[in-house]
Amino acid sequence: MGLFDSLFRSSEVLGIARETLEFALQASEQTHPDEYMGMLRGTEAREVGLDRDGLVITDVLVIPGTESNSVSATVKTNMIPNDNKSLGSVHSHPNGALRPSKADLATFTRGDVHIIIGAPYDWGDWKAFDSDGQPTELNVLDVDLPDDEEFFHFDQHDIDAELREDEFDRGRRW
Ligand SMILES: [Zn+2]
Repeated sequence: MGLFDSLFRSSEVLGIARETLEFALQASEQTHPDEYMGMLRGTEAREVGLDRDGLVITDVLVIPGTESNSVSATVKTNMIPNDNKSLGSVHSHPNGALRPSKADLATFTRGDVHIIIGAPYDWGDWKAFDSDGQPTELNVLDVDLPDDEEFFHFDQHDIDAELREDEFDRGRRW
């Protein structure tokens, strides 16, 4: 495998951590009837215990100043961190439609993976799209997320974590 192969492979998105997806579903439900919107960030697969190159979506970052209502969420683009861990976006459709709007398609050019979560926000109520707005496969991965205070960028981190621990017995220490 040549240098370029390894460079490209290391940026491949392998999937999303199960906990991260659960978190985004729950956050979308809590934000209802407004739209939830966040940026997806990744961690090297080897850092979360996978024996292969690539990136795993482990993080949802809500951009400060994001304003949302029932039909749209407006992100202040100058607040989006300019770092190479940004892999795409996640947002909710309170009307339940699991397809991108025209406005969504215009924003999907930024990043590789875009998740739309729809009401009622149950486990299957989401779809992933590529930067062209085409449905794409996104694996849900059972990985060991680092015990990192920065993992959730939310003040309600501890409360949410406890709620999740009650709902999902995933054998993880919080
Ligand atoms: Zn949308």
